[in-house]
Amino acid sequence: MLDSDLVIQLGEIVGSGNVLTSDEDVSHRKHDYWVLSHLQSWVDVFEGRPGAVVSPHSVEEVQAVMRLANETSTAVVPFGLGSGVCGGVRPDQSTLLIDLSSMNQIREIDAFNLTATFDAGVNGLEAEEAVAEHGLTIGHWPQSIALSSVGGWVSTRAAGQFSTAYGNIEDMVYSLDAVLPNGDLVTLGKAPRAAAGPDLRHLLLGAEGTMGIVTGVTLALRKQPEKRQYRVFHTPSLSAGIEAQRQILQAGWLPPVMRQYDERETRRTFKTWSMEGHGLLLLVHEGPEGRVEAEVNAVDALADSCGLIRGDEEAGIHWMENRNHVPTWNELFDRGLVVDTVEVSSSWSQIEDLYNSVIESVSNIPGVVAVSAHSSHAYRTGINLYFSFAAAAEDPMDLEPIYLDCWKHIMEKTAECGGGIAHHHGIGRVRKPYLVHDLGESGLALLRSVKDALDPKGLLNPGNLIPDA
Ligand SMILES: Cc1cc2nc3c(=O)[nH]c(=O)nc-3n(C[C@H](O)[C@H](O)[C@H](O)COP(=O)(O)OP(=O)(O)OC[C@H]3O[C@@H](n4cnc5c(N)ncnc54)[C@H](O)[C@@H]3O)c2cc1C
Repeated sequence: MLDSDLVIQLGEIVGSGNVLTSDEDVSHRKHDYWVLSHLQSWVDVFEGRPGAVVSPHSVEEVQAVMRLANETSTAVVPFGLGSGVCGGVRPDQSTLLIDLSSMNQIREIDAFNLTATFDAGVNGLEAEEAVAEHGLTIGHWPQSIALSSVGGWVSTRAAGQFSTAYGNIEDMVYSLDAVLPNGDLVTLGKAPRAAAGPDLRHLLLGAEGTMGIVTGVTLALRKQPEKRQYRVFHTPSLSAGIEAQRQILQAGWLPPVMRQYDERETRRTFKTWSMEGHGLLLLVHEGPEGRVEAEVNAVDALADSCGLIRGDEEAGIHWMENRNHVPTWNELFDRGLVVDTVEVSSSWSQIEDLYNSVIESVSNIPGVVAVSAHSSHAYRTGINLYFSFAAAAEDPMDLEPIYLDCWKHIMEKTAECGGGIAHHHGIGRVRKPYLVHDLGESGLALLRSVKDALDPKGLLNPGNLIPDA
């Protein structure tokens, strides 16, 4: 429990109505969207809750709260909108949860320089809708756009569905401000590009609440596209579709969306438009009209030369219209199932081995009833895979070990095949034991040194992201 004096002092900073302590009031801030936390709540074994939830309304209040936490050695967990899926938020009773969703002002939209500045807690969809009124777009469309905050995007190094042309969040952050564990405010980034030493924005990008509290973000914008065109192809094999994507990007074309579904996912998601024995590759081209036309023609020719077969563009429109639908975890638990998605990435030359190796090893785990994948983010140098698995058990208490085993297999097979273990959801608690595969022991030691320098008392989001030495 948090000391009652501390709760009073917090109330003096933010107003007593903005400090919540009762079980009922903090129940919606116990954890994020990580399926394991939801499963543990569903089977009634989840015990954690924050000692208090504090809702600041200004940067100065965040600073004062952090200074007080520092003086009293109180752990602090930043919370955006709680859509993280890796267990980045699991505070205990001794912890103060700082709820950034109360900081939700759109500070400025600069249509001349194409930038917009938001408080960290601004809802992603509201941010996009605000710039859309000026004929602009952020171009960052995570499936969770309506469930996540701008500060959360930065803190998890998020990726949107249109990333192939528009980049991931790190490509859009012009500058950010953050409160450090000692309460100091830093503003990082002040021009379109800098050669002013190491880029310190990256201390916060992907830090998942462990290095500082992001309080404001300026994003670079784009004009809304003049034209949009869909293309859909049946892929006779995984390799044919992957090879087409490699050739498209390496030739210099940049369709914002390129998604390739394996046969299982094609049957599940695009049944009406599927072709027996084939997967599906879906592209969205957008931009100035002349460029879209040139790109569509070039991509059609490359797809043809790789043996792909033109499909119905309605499948693309169907994806666009339904792309952000999310089932609740509880609907699945009610059916005795646990389901999760795991995104990884690799070079073009290793990606098929990675796919085959993960599918084979996860299929063999007792209790697993389905495993499949699609790709959704591609680069000149390689591509991601987004695995989905479902496991069933008669006794819901048996779901947790099967679930953790699936993750272990996916992480270890990915690392064995030379892939990166986390494409865009972050590390949290579910991937923490495997971070060594990406960073190595010396990289982990470096990360711990950075954390110790910034946060010597280990106050910010303890237990998240950084494995113990
Ligand atoms: C249905 C669904 C679909 C999703 N689709 C995508 C997708 O397409 N692409 C993608 O990248 N992700 C996706 N996600 C994951 C999630 O939405 C992102 O990770 C998102 O960026 C998290 O934002 P949030 O505001 O909800 O953060 P939270 O869940 O509140 O927090 C996430 C982590 O960041 C920290 N944090 C949050 N805000 C701050 C801050 N202001 N300062 C410091 N630390 C902070 C927290 O401590 C925590 O560790 C999806 C999630 C769901 C549930």
